[in-house]
Amino acid sequence: MTRDEILSLSAIELAQAIREQKVTSEEAVLAVLENIDGHESMVHAYLSFWKEDALEQARICDEKIRESSVHGADTSEDEKPVLPPLLGVPIAVKDNLMLSGKKTTCGSKMLEGFMAPYTATCVAKLQEAGAILIGKTNMDEFGMGSSTEHSYFGPTYHPKDRSRVPGGSSGGSAAAVAYGGAFAALGTDTGGSIRQPAAFCGLVGLRPTYGSVSRHGLVAFASSMDTAGPITRGTCDAAALYNIVTGADEKDQTSISAPKIDLSAMDEYDVAGKRIGIPRQLLGEGSALRSIEQTKTILSRSGADVEEFDMPVLDYCVAIYYILSSAEASSNLSRYDGIRYGYRDPDAKDLSELYTKTRSSGFGLEVKRRILLGNYVLSSEHFNDCYRQAERARTMVKEAFDKVFQNYDILLFPSATGEAPLLGEIDQDPLSTYVADLCTVPASLAGLPAISVPGGETEDGLPLGIQLVAPRFGEQELLGAARFLEKRREEAEP
Ligand code: GLN
Repeated sequence: MTRDEILSLSAIELAQAIREQKVTSEEAVLAVLENIDGHESMVHAYLSFWKEDALEQARICDEKIRESSVHGADTSEDEKPVLPPLLGVPIAVKDNLMLSGKKTTCGSKMLEGFMAPYTATCVAKLQEAGAILIGKTNMDEFGMGSSTEHSYFGPTYHPKDRSRVPGGSSGGSAAAVAYGGAFAALGTDTGGSIRQPAAFCGLVGLRPTYGSVSRHGLVAFASSMDTAGPITRGTCDAAALYNIVTGADEKDQTSISAPKIDLSAMDEYDVAGKRIGIPRQLLGEGSALRSIEQTKTILSRSGADVEEFDMPVLDYCVAIYYILSSAEASSNLSRYDGIRYGYRDPDAKDLSELYTKTRSSGFGLEVKRRILLGNYVLSSEHFNDCYRQAERARTMVKEAFDKVFQNYDILLFPSATGEAPLLGEIDQDPLSTYVADLCTVPASLAGLPAISVPGGETEDGLPLGIQLVAPRFGEQELLGAARFLEKRREEAEP
């Protein structure tokens, strides 16, 4: 296979080609590394990558496959050793997911040089599945942001247009997959950080049902919403990666065993007769609206029953999300005190100065903004009218979704309010950045599974994403519908 042929494969196609010995894992890793060499100085998707390690692992995979085929020659199909599903496939992970012995910085000066003492469960599951971990990707500091500009190590640039951001906070993961620096990646999504960068980079991003993927080893931002999930080129890869990383974990008491996706049933999914709802509050305008209108036409022509409806509680989701996520962040980030781990200010004269100086210079502006907001809403003066109220309102959001799903199988709306913004554009006004999260935070608050799939382009060729949302543990339905739309798009633009 030529390098271009290798790079045109999806992650599961590559896994199959490697198993069938049509290509070696070493060739796949070399193709990816060559791409990294060619793009990293322009895109900066990775914070670290491990060339030698990856090649070494690839050779071990290839050896395993050769052995199994020799062994397999005189054994029956049933007795052949089962090879793990991602054997030899190069995958990237966001830098807030721990991998033992490797740096985990969360894009922060606070954790510059911090070595992970253990491996996150979802990352370990990828390793067990035979994936080759190629590197750790850039992100907004501690996951706070929507552009990857808030990384202490410098921004990631949009792989198609260097004047733009790739989205965030999993912007490094999305950019790496988009330019072929990995066959798939893991991101994390608290309020949209998988779906929005996937949308901006023309990829698929799946935020699984809260609890279906263990958070053990995912550095906490807002624990009640943090969720790890895949960023991939297509829906079949997203489903395959979901199946690998999902599962109950005794190290995360909020994790739960969720049903796996039947991959073979995905292609049989038909939208005919399905009830699909579009909440008017999230219809959007301009290019985002046009892409929803097009999707609506595709679905209606295919026999789905698509209708718009009102869901007033959606107007409050951004406010609820920022109160709750900042409250949780201020509590979670109190552990960075300059004593237990991470950065320590060298010039502090006493303990109180050590805390102040360490935290003042260790955290970036956006993180400090969230800590201040979190402390404010948790202060005794404002606890009842801010934090408590937001908690109650969150319950109302959940209940409103439960009610809506009595009428609809799937919800449809844009993944973001428009295309990828210009670098520096959103930094000028943090509040308008927060408001731009209005399409992604509702599913986060309600713990629902949501996916962003490509939904056309702007006139300038910038990708747009459309979002589908299903009831909790509705991944089968969600991925089926996403695959259906993907096939329609493939047919329309071969
Ligand atoms: N943009 C949102 C925020 O800044 C979401 C981030 C995330 O999902 N990690 O909080």
